[in-house]
Amino acid sequence: MARKLPPGAKLVLASHNKGKLREIADLLAPRAVSVVSAGDLGLAEPMEDAPDFAGNARIKALLAAHASGLPALSDDSGFCVAALDGAPGVLSARWAGEAKDFSVAMARVWREVGGADDRRAWFVCVLCLAWPDGHTESFLGRVDGQLVWPPRGTHGFGYDPIFVPAGGMLTFGEIDAAAKHAISHRANAFAQLLASCFG
Ligand code: IMP
Repeated sequence: MARKLPPGAKLVLASHNKGKLREIADLLAPRAVSVVSAGDLGLAEPMEDAPDFAGNARIKALLAAHASGLPALSDDSGFCVAALDGAPGVLSARWAGEAKDFSVAMARVWREVGGADDRRAWFVCVLCLAWPDGHTESFLGRVDGQLVWPPRGTHGFGYDPIFVPAGGMLTFGEIDAAAKHAISHRANAFAQLLASCFG
């Protein structure tokens, strides 16, 4: 049985990434929870050294739940490219360097893909909800599509300007937040989380 969050629960968003925080707040808006971010509580950014999204999501959520004494929700996500055997994957944030410059990260993706014909790419998101007693629930969402070059659009964040979802023409950088939420990896993981842990 999945553990439920009671109506009116206070939840820590265990992320320091502004793009993710904005999308998570949007996706939680219809729910009766109040949210505070890890940054607002002055919590440190943990070392994300697990080999996969699920492991990193667990590290972030448990740390924030223990430090705050509140249930905490983390998001570990990334951009995966078939021609790069799934890279940058869990290293998606790190490819942007200290300056968190995603034009640098996107240029590296394109450079490393070189002349490869295979343009399949996907985003993955693992959401982990952790309680201060160490209980966790995790949910994985994914959206498949194609890598495109050059980058297009100014919406979203991270690698959105070089990803076109399957069946579409526009990048995640060219569509608005509502259109992205209809199909994104994060929205997909959220739908599972909401069905399981709310209500
Ligand atoms: P982390 O989960 O904090 O390791 O960071 C994941 C990184 O993956 C982000 O900094 C983004 O670069 C990338 N990423 C995750 N989700 C998205 C998305 O929805 N759009 C674009 N980039 C994303």
